[in-house]
Amino acid sequence: MAKLLEGKPIAEKIKEAIKREISERALKPVLASIQVGENPGAAAYVKSQLKLAESLGIDYQLHKLGQDTTENTLIDFIRKLNTEKTVNGIIVQMPLPPNIEYKKISQFILPEKDVEGMHPVNIGKIVFGTAKIVPCTAQAVMELLASINLDLYGKEVVVVGHSEIVGKPLSLLLLEKFATVTVCHIGTSKAGKLDSHVKKAEVLIVAVGKAGLIKGEWIKEGSVVIDVGINRIEGKIVGDVEFEAAEKKAEYITPVPGGVGPLTVTMLMRNLAEAAKSQ
Ligand code: NDP
Repeated sequence: MAKLLEGKPIAEKIKEAIKREISERALKPVLASIQVGENPGAAAYVKSQLKLAESLGIDYQLHKLGQDTTENTLIDFIRKLNTEKTVNGIIVQMPLPPNIEYKKISQFILPEKDVEGMHPVNIGKIVFGTAKIVPCTAQAVMELLASINLDLYGKEVVVVGHSEIVGKPLSLLLLEKFATVTVCHIGTSKAGKLDSHVKKAEVLIVAVGKAGLIKGEWIKEGSVVIDVGINRIEGKIVGDVEFEAAEKKAEYITPVPGGVGPLTVTMLMRNLAEAAKSQ
């Protein structure tokens, strides 16, 4: 039976380190958070970010813009925050109203204030292995793997999902550790080859958002399984991997909820502390 790879204890250690750093360097980090409209998902993220920020001594400044905000108004607002010396980091909450394209507006946040690590400059630095600010979920997965002292050198790692925010940056971070990385996506599934790739994974990371996509019988004996997916099924939150069957075969597996999730928001605050340090 697999050991549970829980995010909370790792997050607690990282929070202590952030707190220490803020206090030792006498930093006063300010995070400007922009919420456009009244989406319940965005409101929930804001609530958890605010709670964590307060516990770390971070000033969390929430800016609520109306549902009818245009792309240009949002860009102007970001530009204003870019020039404010006291603001160390800027985050735009997702999801955005349909008239606003995140990919477009993320380019207007100054790279040094881009605490989500999604500016093309920060993404580009991952390719060169020099990134200090890395997308939070990808970084959370790397922390989980580091917590079990897993040497990724030469390991068969399969990443399912190739989004800009999770799968792609994560694949680059894994390459940096000399893992042999296979990235699967919708094309892999449509070609009927997802199972054959998953079956060879010594480390499997799934970030898709489809409950039950990864069958328990595909999991390699003794593997490490990181399930990033979040799906609400009949009022319950589950991941993308068939947990009960998978935990019988894996050596380590993340629970959903309680695996990657608690670390992601902590990584946001670590990016903010890093930004405040370097400004
Ligand atoms: P996206 O929807 O942006 O990306 C999903 C990816 O899965 C895409 O690359 C998509 O490919 C691929 N995909 C879709 N269907 C299949 C399939 N049948 N087989 C293989 N690949 C498929 O989602 P995100 O990356 O933003 O998030 C992924 C999941 O992780 C979600 O459930 C999200 O809620 C969760 N999440 C969890 C976080 C946490 O902290 N725990 C943080 C961020 C996300 P294509 O685009 O080509 O269709």
